[in-house]
Parts: sequence; C-alpha cells; structure tokens
Amino acid sequence: MTTTERHLYDVVVIGAGGAGLRAAIEARLAGKKTAIISKSLFGKAHTVMAEGGAAAAMGNVNSRDNWMVHFRDTMRGGKFLNNFRMAELHAKEAPERIWELETYGALFDRTKDGKISQRNFGGHEYPRLAHVGDRTGLELIRTLQQKIVSLQQEDYAETGSYDSRIRVFQETTITELLLDGDRVAGAFGYYRDSGEFLLFEAPAVVLATGGVGRSYKVTSNSWEYTGDGHALALRSGATLINMEFLQFHPTGMVWPPSVKGILVTESVRGDGGVLRNSEQKRFMFDYVPDVFRKQYAETEEEADRWYTDPDNNRRPPELLPRDEVARAINSEVKAGRGSPAGGVFLDVSTRLPAEQIIKRLPSMHHQFKELADVDITKEPMEVGPTCHYVMGGVEVDPDTGAAFGSVLGLFAAGEVSGGMHGSNRLGGNSLSDLLVFGKRAGEHAAAYVDTLPKRPKVTRIDVAAAAEVALAPLVRTEGENPYTLQQDLQAVMGDLVGIIRREGELSDALKKLHELRLRVANVAVGGGRRYNPGWHLALDLRNMLIVSECTAKAALEREESRGGHTREDHPAMSPEWRRVNLVCSLDEAGEVHLERKPVPTMRPELLDLFDRSELAKYLTTEELTGLGEE
Ligand code: FAD
Repeated sequence: MTTTERHLYDVVVIGAGGAGLRAAIEARLAGKKTAIISKSLFGKAHTVMAEGGAAAAMGNVNSRDNWMVHFRDTMRGGKFLNNFRMAELHAKEAPERIWELETYGALFDRTKDGKISQRNFGGHEYPRLAHVGDRTGLELIRTLQQKIVSLQQEDYAETGSYDSRIRVFQETTITELLLDGDRVAGAFGYYRDSGEFLLFEAPAVVLATGGVGRSYKVTSNSWEYTGDGHALALRSGATLINMEFLQFHPTGMVWPPSVKGILVTESVRGDGGVLRNSEQKRFMFDYVPDVFRKQYAETEEEADRWYTDPDNNRRPPELLPRDEVARAINSEVKAGRGSPAGGVFLDVSTRLPAEQIIKRLPSMHHQFKELADVDITKEPMEVGPTCHYVMGGVEVDPDTGAAFGSVLGLFAAGEVSGGMHGSNRLGGNSLSDLLVFGKRAGEHAAAYVDTLPKRPKVTRIDVAAAAEVALAPLVRTEGENPYTLQQDLQAVMGDLVGIIRREGELSDALKKLHELRLRVANVAVGGGRRYNPGWHLALDLRNMLIVSECTAKAALEREESRGGHTREDHPAMSPEWRRVNLVCSLDEAGEVHLERKPVPTMRPELLDLFDRSELAKYLTTEELTGLGEE
C-alpha cells in the first residue's frame, strides 16, 4: 500500500529554469495559486549554466540594431523553418524582458556610458547579448528566484504563510500528467529523497523541463535532461514538432575523457578566439556556405579588423551559426587535421592579453585550469562538437504557449517547446526565448483557469495506475540494469542519429530503439525508494526512448540537410522541405506516429524585411512567384 501526498493548485509549473520561474511569476501575479516543481535542487537548471548572455535588440552597443534585424538573424539562423510568429514576438519583446529583469534586481555588465553592455555572438549581426561576464544564467536565475522570494514575502504579510500562493517543490520529479477527458487535471510524481509520491491537482500545467541531451554520451547537458516534458506532453495527447533538429554545439571540451562534452562558451569566439587545425590553419574560411557568403569575411585581415570596426568589415567565419561551425570541425577531424584528443584548437591566448581573458572569460579560465590543467591565457584549448540543445519540442500556439494536439490546459515554454528556433538556434536566443515565452505561458495558463466553469477531476484509478508504473522497476525481481540500458541508448543515438546522418543508419537506429523499448519495459532496480538514483533513471529511460524515437523517425523522414539535421545522402537544403513541419504524436497503442504539416506562411510585411535574392535561397519557385514583382 502506498500513500500519496495531495496538493491543490491553479497552475503547476514543471521546471525551475528560466522559463518555469518566469511563467510561475506571471501566474502568481495573475492571482493564481502556483506550484513550481524542480527535479534537481532549486537554482540548479541549465539556465544557471548559460554563459554568454541573452540576445535582445536593445541597440546599446550599435544603435543600428532593432527587432527587425534580430528577427532576420533568427530566421536566417533557423534556415527559415522557424515559426515566424514566435521569432517576431521574441525579437520584439526580448528587450522589455531584459529591462524588466533589472527591475527585479539583475545587474548586467555596463557600457562606458552606463547602458547594459552587449556582446557579439554567432549569427547576430550586431553586438546583442546582454551579459554578466560569462555567468549570465546565474544572474538570471538569481534574480528570478529573488522575485519569487519577494512575492512570497508579500504573501506572508497578507496571509501569514510564505507558501500560500507560490511554493517550490525541489528534488521532485513528475512522472505523469493526469487528465479528465481531454483536459489536464493534475500531475503525479515523487520526492527524490524519500521516494514518496505526490499528486498535484491543477487545471493548468506549464511544461518548462528543458532539453533531451542525456540521450547522447557526448553532451553539455546534465543528468536531469532526459526529455521528460517532451514525453509527458506526448503521453497526454500533445504533439512534438521537428524533433530531428538537435544542436551540436561546435565547442565542447574533448579532453580529459571524464569531462568530454562540457561546454566551451561561444563567447570565446565572440571575444576574438579563433579555430585552427593541426596545420595551424584558420580553416573556417573554407567553410562559408553560399547563403552566408555576403556577410562573412574572406581574409583573416578583414576578419580581424571586424572586431574593432564592425561597420566597415565583415564578420569572421568563426562566428557563423553553430551548425556550420560544428560540421566544419567534424570535417577537419575526419580529414585527419584534428588535434591530438580528436578535436581542433580554439585559441584566445594569442588574441587577447591575459588580464582581458581572465576578466571576460573567468569561468572558461577556471574550467580549463581545474579540469584539464590548461591555462587558456597561454595555450589553446582542444574542442569538438557536443550535443547541446533541442530545437524541436512541444508544438505550441505562438502567442499563448498552449500545446497543440488533443489536450487542453497544457502549456509549454523554453527549451521544451518547439518552433521558435527553426532548424538551428542562435546562441543567446534561448535565454531571451525563455523570458518572453515563459511570461506568455504563465499569463495564458492563468487566463485559461479563469475560463473553466468547474475544475477537472483526477480519478483514483489514474493515480493508482501512475503509482504502479512508477513502482514497476522496483517490484520486478529480474530484469535489465538501467545504467546499461542508458549506455546502449546513448550508443545508438550518438553513432546512428548523430551530427551526420544516413538513411541506412537511421533505419538501423529505429530497429535498435524498438528493441531497447522492449528491454526498458523490463528494467529492474534493487533497493528501496529512498535515495535510489537507479530507480530514478529507470523511470527517465521511458521518456528518453520515446523522445529518441521521435528524433530518429523525423531524421529518417526529412530528406534534406538543414541546420541541426545533416543527411549525408541528402546534403542540400530543399525549398520543398522548408515548407514542411514534422509532427510527432502517440497513437492509441502508444506507438510513435509522424505526420507532415505545412509551415505557416510568413506575413508579407515580415517577408519584406528580406531581399528577394536572399528569399530565393530558401523559398520554392512557386512561393517566389506568389510574392510578385520586387
Ligand atoms: P532549464 O533551465 O533547463 O530548466 C529545466 C527545469 O526542469 C529544471 O529545473 C529541471 O530540474 C526541471 N525538470 C526536468 N524534468 C523534470 C521533471 N520530470 N519533473 C520536475 N522537474 C523537471 N542559452 C543562451 O541563450 N545563452 C547562453 O549563454 C547559453 N549557455 C549555455 C551553457 C550551457 C552549459 C548549457 C547546457 C546551455 C546553455 N544555453 C544558453 C542554453 C540555455 O541555457 C537553455 O536552453 C535554457 O536555460 C533552458 O531553459 P529552460 O527554462 O527551458 O530549462
């Protein structure tokens, strides 16, 4: 017999990264009783690890910047597959969300004249990333948490309880969403320390669970990122969009093996760092694709001049969007021009004085000294691609964050949602994304609650079923070890659904994932419910598998190369495929189903922001003809 602690809320936010906290603040400001649930300790989320900054066209460092330029860069970075409305809202609202953070107490680095400082990043035409050294995410989380504490203090003054309107449940994992017909009715989960179950009864749930990177061995993601929100959405009848697009960040550590995959921030290149191969050649000049040719320097001299005179020179190719740089590094290593540990060299030591490096990149200096015994003020780093970010995610209404599919009352924001970044995210666009769409999701979740004539009900049968599924790995006396299964899954995804993909390998991956699904259904864990990480992983595996299957299926279906999806057997970008979103759902038998849906057509005034010659690189002849004469 198991007991389940019960809680009643209006809005439950699953995830305490930037998206979750911003959503929770908004729901609470709208007067809703709000719970924030976090799988890890409160304050430990990917958001806190974000280094470079948050992209917002404030125009502080170059006054030519504005939302239209940011929108254009985002669409270019995503190779025009972005949901244009999300990219528009994001570009328009990001500056306000950054300024708002300062009203919550954030303190960004400053320009000489006292404005919020902004730095260069790949794919952004002007310096655009508001930052705090290379620890921007820490300031973001600190500030949002501080805002929550201040709201709790207001609540205490009024009700005598800090938790009366907003409460944080940390080290608590949600394993199931519960429905009443087609409406969200609650969420079921467990405390990680005691293993005890909890039930949240709530008519609205905001998913803000972040990414999926732990399905890959070489990843910048930490242990929590097992695609839980993606899987919860699927199992409750929502849909996922474009799951084939995964961002392999070009610069992860490659040495020593124990830290392989840990991120080396793009700020290193933004601040002047260059990539060289074993022949000491700055190879990125050989990899500028036609679509970007006009915007990137052709010589080292021009590239170097850009850092001090960006108005009269073109950008260095090291600052191409991440997918381009990751593929280039991959090709250099494959051609035998890699570094001893199988990466390439990233050098800032010959580009900036030591004291500048320590001031601008303190975390990187510390990280390499501590983990690899490398002093980046004196020697180059060795770097290579690492699985970093998922562009695909829950298909949402761009304005409200409401999930598409057959379920009502479900919202998603931040990395778990899809569409905003198209086929490739620009660095810095995630921190601003989660502020813009976190706020919107919180606001609309609260508004949705107000529309309900009565609260949906959770049934005892559903709670008992969720408990049974959660306990199954502990009840089984014989079965497979979850750690072995995770390693096998990571091998399938890394080897067959990695940075470069091929039809035969993807088909093979799907077969292997199917076999793994059967094995995961038989996973067994020793020990009890207290502090049992093997049990936690056994439950996460179910999510990782279903999400990996969506990725592999969509990767096989999309016969082109675009952004974070490279098919060796279909190397070109296809204008026809640009019109297609791949939408993943679960059928009644729990099998992954993939469907093609048209990409929404961009409004004419947004299309007008691009030259016709640029649109011709992405759009079909039919679409271009439809635009009429220039
Ligand atoms: P997260 O911050 O990832 O938070 C997810 C939350 O969900 C966590 O609290 C987690 O515990 C919780 N959770 C997950 N599953 C469950 C569950 N089942 N039950 C309960 N809780 C759950 N982006 C930028 O824009 N600029 C940068 O400079 C930058 N640098 C980065 C550096 C690193 C090392 C990494 C890994 C990412 C970086 N990114 C950067 C990307 C960016 O940090 C993330 O995409 C973003 O923070 C995601 O925010 P989020 O709120 O969606 O989710």
